Amino acid sequence: MLRLRPTYAVERVTDINLEDLKAENIKGLIFDLDNTLMHPQTSYLPDDIEQWLDTVKNDFKITILSNNPYTHYVKAAGKRVGCVAYEKAGKPRRKAALKALKDLDLLPNQVAIIGDRPLTDIWVGQRLGMTTILVDPLLKHKEIWIIKYLRKLEKIFITKALRTFSGQDEK
Ligand SMILES: [Mg+2]
Repeated sequence: MLRLRPTYAVERVTDINLEDLKAENIKGLIFDLDNTLMHPQTSYLPDDIEQWLDTVKNDFKITILSNNPYTHYVKAAGKRVGCVAYEKAGKPRRKAALKALKDLDLLPNQVAIIGDRPLTDIWVGQRLGMTTILVDPLLKHKEIWIIKYLRKLEKIFITKALRTFSGQDEK
């Protein structure tokens, strides 16, 4: 049976310990968009996340990899964040993630992928041998029942994170 085990699990992207990632020789970060960086379908990027991304960009190459099919929406998000953004990524398929790696000019073991969905974001990262970081969805309390149900199903596949960041309580 498929077993998904994120390297780390945090509540919010801003809880990621960047120093720990640097110490592990991570040089690039691939972000999911909806519910990881932005509130889905609203283009709302919380202020603390926007500021945090500015700090991140000082030390890491970043890119956005979204399964969202709306080119205009995803490209606008990339422009706002100041990085390349791919729509229709088809995660957990590898093709778009491999392209993102090529654009970053980094190897899978130099990159961490960050997202809220085990069966897309974590799975593709695990398949390619990247560090994987699972975040809680930004708006989980507002989701419709079918999405809540799917998230419950996804939990069947996921096991506890491999490691915790320095100073992080175990999740
Ligand atoms: Mg997402």
